[in-house]
Amino acid sequence: MTELRNLVVVLGDQLDMDAAAFDGFDPARDAVWMAEVAEESTHVWSSKPRTVMFLAAMRHFAQALRAAGRALHYTTLDAAENRGSLAAQLQADMERLRPARLVLTAPGDWRVLQAVKAAAEAQRLPLDVREDRHFYCSVREFAAYARGRKSLRMEYFYREMRKRHGVLMTGDEPAGGQWNFDADNRESFGAAGPGAVPPRAAFAPDEITREVIALVEARFATHPGQLDSFAWPVTREHALVSLQRFVAERLPSFGRYQDAMWPGDPWLYHSHVSAALNLKLLNPREVVAAAVAAYHAGAAALPGVEGFVRQILGWREYVRGIYWTRMPGYLELNALDARENLPAWYWSGTTDMACLRDALTQTLSHGYANHIQRLMVTGLFALMYGVEPQQVHAWYLAVYVDAVEWAELPNSLGMSQYADGGLMASKPYVATGKYIQRMSPYCRGCRYDPARRTGDAACPFTTLYWDFLLHHEARLSSNPRMALQVRNVARLNDAERQAIRERSAAIRRGDVA
Ligand SMILES: Cc1cc2nc3c(=O)[nH]c(=O)nc-3n(C[C@H](O)[C@H](O)[C@H](O)COP(=O)(O)OP(=O)(O)OC[C@H]3O[C@@H](n4cnc5c(N)ncnc54)[C@H](O)[C@@H]3O)c2cc1C
Ligand code: SF4
Repeated sequence: MTELRNLVVVLGDQLDMDAAAFDGFDPARDAVWMAEVAEESTHVWSSKPRTVMFLAAMRHFAQALRAAGRALHYTTLDAAENRGSLAAQLQADMERLRPARLVLTAPGDWRVLQAVKAAAEAQRLPLDVREDRHFYCSVREFAAYARGRKSLRMEYFYREMRKRHGVLMTGDEPAGGQWNFDADNRESFGAAGPGAVPPRAAFAPDEITREVIALVEARFATHPGQLDSFAWPVTREHALVSLQRFVAERLPSFGRYQDAMWPGDPWLYHSHVSAALNLKLLNPREVVAAAVAAYHAGAAALPGVEGFVRQILGWREYVRGIYWTRMPGYLELNALDARENLPAWYWSGTTDMACLRDALTQTLSHGYANHIQRLMVTGLFALMYGVEPQQVHAWYLAVYVDAVEWAELPNSLGMSQYADGGLMASKPYVATGKYIQRMSPYCRGCRYDPARRTGDAACPFTTLYWDFLLHHEARLSSNPRMALQVRNVARLNDAERQAIRERSAAIRRGDVA
């Protein structure tokens, strides 16, 4: 038998034929290693849609590898010899296959990198970790950018990225003369509703995906989420169709309605490409190029295209940089000392709060909720309720098909829960139910009233908003961006403060849900 030179480790979110780990791949001497392991679905209580997303995409990628003539050692979840964790499986396979070296594209998760390193060390095998070229900005470049800056803000990082990569630039100036079109991008739908939104690109599960669905239903029967409507792209071909459909059908309205919500429709004008991007079925450069081309062709206006590019070239790269330059300490942060447990109904959607019920139900049915639902409904409630940020993190990492720790953690723990004390967001994103009322018609169909902060009909968001300000009054008073809110809370008399505290206690006891 010829000696195995490189064993190329491909993780579930590294499904890219052009990844650096394949550089110099010699089919005569190298082989690929992939494994489905239960640990990846149990270290957080991974929802069924999320697990199916990963496993179905991995199996289709395995098929593509074989078709391309790359030898593959693939362990399925139900294989008798499956060791249950990445590290244990890798060790067992290293002993069996005896490669001279392990090769790996830098993993997205800190935990996974440690596991692979430990496995290689245990076998005394050289490990070649290569740059993840998927991203525009390497971790080293981000670290250099962040070094010496007192505070980091996405906006300035994003401008640097636009300049460095020549995206939406006219010479040295931003296209259209301004960097930011956020002010044009904050509309709600109004009473008439969103009208005929183009249906999302949906892909009926093929035989491979159906097998995975059956496996996940059997193996993770008690895990949250449903699979009846699973229609995510799990191949590169489908991911490209999904991208093309977005650019042609939704991008022209993306920016305008980026922050809007509508009952029963999480999809709206969003792109739904996050899972395909995070599993590396799509490259961010082709996503950005497709949107910019639509602008140049006159098919989509600049504010919306800029708004979309900002998400990919700005936010997505920024959160990855924050994650890798702050781990592992970032995981433990709890700047507001929040200690409550996540309400159990986050896992079922059983609540009378119309906005939360819809966001949670859609999350569990599809493994998807749009950004504003994540930030200003589920995230906002958890923040003001005072849920321990690590529990919030575990929930977000479990429920979404696009959930990978590098993207999820800075968004949930940092941007949404303010647990990093202001690194991701310059102030806590807190609001009363009136914000949700402005951005959606949810409140019309809800038993609570967003204008009331106390009493039986009081909207829990509104009560908890005031409770949050009372609880953190001293800390927030040093933040100039919170000055107005702090002034408002200072005006409350003792009786009002007491009534807010009592109603908040009832919410936290579960008497109001
Ligand atoms: C609490 C919380 C948790 C989140 N967890 C994740 C996660 O696990 N994985 C994930 O990819 N995104 C996460 N996001 C960011 C964002 O909500 C999703 O990327 C987006 O909703 C995915 O839907 P879409 O593809 O239709 O996005 P669109 O609204 O169409 O946006 C386009 C793309 O921009 C990128 N993007 C937009 N906003 C962000 C952001 N804040 N951070 C990183 N990328 C962004 C995504 O790749 C997305 O596909 C989270 C946001 C919040 C507030
Ligand atoms: S009243 Fe409050 S709980 Fe009900 S939908 Fe509006 S914001 Fe949500």
